[in-house]
Amino acid sequence: MDKIPGLSGTNLIEAAFLAHDHPVFVVSWQTRRILAASEAVYRVFGWRPEELHDRSTEMLHVDAESFRRFGEISENILNSEKDTFHCFYQMRRRDGAIFDSENMVGIIRGQHDEPVAVVSVVSEISEGRSLMMQPADHNLGLAWFGDRLPGGIFQRVQRPDGSVAYTYIHSALADRFDIDPEQVRSDPNIVLDRLHPDDRERLTHALVHANQNLSVLDIELAAFSVSGERLTLRSISQPRRLDDGSTIWDGLILDITEQRFAENRIQHLVMYDRVTGLPNVVTFEQRLQQVMAHAKDEETVLVVGALNVIRFYRINESLGFKRGDDALRKIGERLASVLHGNDMVARYEGDEFLFLAQGLETLESVRRLGQEVVTLFDEPLELNDHSLLSVSVKVGLSVFPDGAGTADELRRKADLALQRVRKDPDRSFEFYSEQMSQEVLETLALERNLKEAIQAGVIIPHYQPQFEAASGRLSGMEVLARWPLAEGGMVSPGRFIPLAEETGLIHPLMEHLVDAVLAQITRWRQDGLSPPPVAINVSAHQIRRPGFFDWLFERLARYGVGIEALTVELTESAFLLDFEHVRSALESLDEKGVRLSIDDFGTGYSSLSYLSQLPFRELKIDQSFVSEVDVNRRKRAVVKGIIELARALELEVVAEGVETESQLSELKALGCDSVQGFYLGRPMDASALTGLLLAGKH
Ligand code: C2E
Ligand code: CA
Ligand code: CA
Repeated sequence: MDKIPGLSGTNLIEAAFLAHDHPVFVVSWQTRRILAASEAVYRVFGWRPEELHDRSTEMLHVDAESFRRFGEISENILNSEKDTFHCFYQMRRRDGAIFDSENMVGIIRGQHDEPVAVVSVVSEISEGRSLMMQPADHNLGLAWFGDRLPGGIFQRVQRPDGSVAYTYIHSALADRFDIDPEQVRSDPNIVLDRLHPDDRERLTHALVHANQNLSVLDIELAAFSVSGERLTLRSISQPRRLDDGSTIWDGLILDITEQRFAENRIQHLVMYDRVTGLPNVVTFEQRLQQVMAHAKDEETVLVVGALNVIRFYRINESLGFKRGDDALRKIGERLASVLHGNDMVARYEGDEFLFLAQGLETLESVRRLGQEVVTLFDEPLELNDHSLLSVSVKVGLSVFPDGAGTADELRRKADLALQRVRKDPDRSFEFYSEQMSQEVLETLALERNLKEAIQAGVIIPHYQPQFEAASGRLSGMEVLARWPLAEGGMVSPGRFIPLAEETGLIHPLMEHLVDAVLAQITRWRQDGLSPPPVAINVSAHQIRRPGFFDWLFERLARYGVGIEALTVELTESAFLLDFEHVRSALESLDEKGVRLSIDDFGTGYSSLSYLSQLPFRELKIDQSFVSEVDVNRRKRAVVKGIIELARALELEVVAEGVETESQLSELKALGCDSVQGFYLGRPMDASALTGLLLAGKH
């Protein structure tokens, strides 16, 4: 429903009544009785306004037909959803004299948009019917109206020969477009020139159509003001045919630029969230629908996430809504920081956000994304007032294509996953289960069990012996984690260690294992045994977390075990990233007496220059070289080279994964210091190793 600004409601009534020059009537829509009449009514009609009160307007018309026709026009206008119209008809004065009039009529609507009354401003047309015969300036009625409209009034005539002229252009409109009314009388193209090029043709077509059917022309046009400002205009005109065959358009031009602007703003409000400026759920789903179609073609995975800020209401309660809003904006920004170009973050409602990530290829990368989003919030948010705010989040994820057909479904599944993870105090993100592949399901179950297993102390150290190659003497042992299952069997560390690293469970796991190892060393010593150095595997994550070694030293002190009782095995991945930082960390460990061993040597990317800069004391040749050292000349050559390199760097060499007698003798021949492998001893539990220690003693 288009409301013409300034043309409806009380403003119009007040404005109209102020204009004493012209009779103004307010008439009930239902009864067509006069509710009010202005002073000017007396001058034109000869009735005192109060005499007309509650009288039917029929008495002002020339005949019943005219009265009926006016009613019809009003109905028609109402159906066309307009609120004003402009009509000409003959009216009757008190003394019975008939005069031509022009009526500008506005419909007043009630609360529910229903028509309540009409306001009619009557202009007397003194001679003849056609306005075009009169100098524009004498058209006081129109001029008065024109002044009050956000736009102006015009009259356009198309003569029988097809030529066109503007016979009236209200001065305000002429000013606005810098049009000379005189000039435009003869050259209508001046008006077209002010329009946006696309709209010129559109208008011309519409005019032809309206001319043929004598239908109301109501058209929205893009135009330019004198200053080049872009305007949106609405032109409403009613063509009528004169006896000579020419057509006259009585028209109204309204500047609806601001109104459209407001509507666009409303559109923005409908599409975007007010607080964060992020797209809202409507926009999100629209976008999702588009990219879903695309993802099908691309054969990539698309992830929808629902993120909830835990106990956000507390933030609002304690910091106030202003900072609460600020926090929401910061959360949105941070969330956006892990996403890429075409991905999207939206505010769902309250403390819930949505995101969409595209182009993922594996479920593993989806998992990683979930983890990444959660850890994004490990660092506190900095609010506008520079205060820091810690928040934590829960994330539900759903994956396309993996079930869900529509955008709405996909979003709802992410939301369901979120609801589930919200109830689970131990987890931060969760997939919608139906969509999870078996593997992801298992991994998630494993992760849950892993946490329990660590807490319950189910995961225990096993020890794999190492022997001096030359003498065969027990020279060390490597601690390898073992997770026996209640139902029998073991979970391989190759499976749960990477998971523990990813989930951060590696820290409690290693603390538990090292504690058990130190307790065991103490027990062996108490039993009069002297265990050789015990190697522990330390992952890259722990090198970057200085707390682990602080903890380790504290534990060593508590057990009264010296640092020389341990060797720390690191793989190359530990120092590939952030080399300088790791180097200084390793150096300080070395200074404290920690014996560092480089594990899986040969499988990574470490260059000699790296190796020579780091304070390692031992190098472990990876099993992949050892396995064929006796049969493959190249591998043998590599092992030989590694051993020579180690010699040059003064590193001791351990060969791991020795499975056969012939491998062992080859390694001995090449000058390996120590050997480790199934051939010499499998990883075993503490009591089995006690047996070995006792055997060594005797
Ligand atoms: P790794 O550090 O290279 O450990 C050596 C792996 O080789 C062990 O596998 C061991 O059982 C296996 N192995 C030893 N001798 C032989 C042999 O002769 N033949 C074959 N085929 N394999 C042999 P495991 O116990 O399955 O451990 C796998 C990996 O898990 C380890 O590789 C290590 O990276 C990691 N891991 C195990 N326990 C821990 C731990 O407590 N902490 C950390 N951070 N990682 C651990
Ligand atoms: Ca190792
Ligand atoms: Ca190894």
